Amino acid sequence: MSAVPTGRFAPSPTGDLHLGNLRTALLAWLWSRHDHGGFLVRMEDLDRVTSSREHEDRQLRDLAAIGLDWDAPPVRQSERFDLYADALADLSARQLVYRCYCSRREIAEAASAPHGRPGRYPGTCRNLSARERTNRERSGRPAALRLRADATSVSVDDLILGHVCDVADDVVLCRNDGVPAYQLAVVVDDASQGVEVVVRGDDLAPSTPAQVILQRLLGLPTPAYAHVPLVVSERGTRLAKRDGAVTLADRVRAGDTPLDVVTWLLRSSGQPTPATDDRTVSLNDLINDAAGVFDHSAIPRIPIVLTDGELGRPLPR
Ligand code: GLU
Repeated sequence: MSAVPTGRFAPSPTGDLHLGNLRTALLAWLWSRHDHGGFLVRMEDLDRVTSSREHEDRQLRDLAAIGLDWDAPPVRQSERFDLYADALADLSARQLVYRCYCSRREIAEAASAPHGRPGRYPGTCRNLSARERTNRERSGRPAALRLRADATSVSVDDLILGHVCDVADDVVLCRNDGVPAYQLAVVVDDASQGVEVVVRGDDLAPSTPAQVILQRLLGLPTPAYAHVPLVVSERGTRLAKRDGAVTLADRVRAGDTPLDVVTWLLRSSGQPTPATDDRTVSLNDLINDAAGVFDHSAIPRIPIVLTDGELGRPLPR
């Protein structure tokens, strides 16, 4: 890693950012800026059906509204398909990719069987005979392309989760409609953008072993990883629009200023905040001071719960 690490926030522009996304973005920014490092925003807009420029603009506006800045115009994954195609061709040429004909339902059913592991590919198409493959091709079902990860065990020293050892999944590299998949794109992009510290939600921690395998196979560096706990509703589910006033615009309607929101984001992340009655502090001072004293060891290791009651009134200061 260079002396000045580069970090990033990589949202999917499929809706407005909620408090959990904003908290992850702020932590990623603080992590880099504390060390006077670079910071980038990348739009993970591979899914053209759910992504939109309007969401992208609104997300960037909200990130700027909580005081974040980035060093270069955000890149869009939808404009980088050539890079992903090159990486895929490289892996395919080395027989590290196989065709998978399974539907989501078949995968879910196999993964919930006694020896299956939910969320994991059960390996159905990994070693098909030539005849089985021909039969599937004839059925007309389009194939996705999966990584032949060979159940390799990967250890990661996560800066939040600590030492994690898990088996890499045979993740999808190209969807069955020909669109490159997140797991491939994220690895190619983090390397090509020189990202050295990946701070993201801990729901993505299970993806890390496959991403590390991909980095090794493609001869790319492995960044440092910090998976931060999510903000959840009182039902224990990841915060979502249905939980109430969760976006910045919602919070402003509920009586909070962006400064109140950032104060809550910092407090919920174990970082020092100004006295609650100090109304003179500006948003820029608040986050620049926070970057100066940022201490990642103080980030709580458990999810932050926002109850329906808390979401219905101004955030606790
Ligand atoms: N685009 C992903 C998301 O919005 C984040 C991917 C990453 O940070 O690696 O959940």
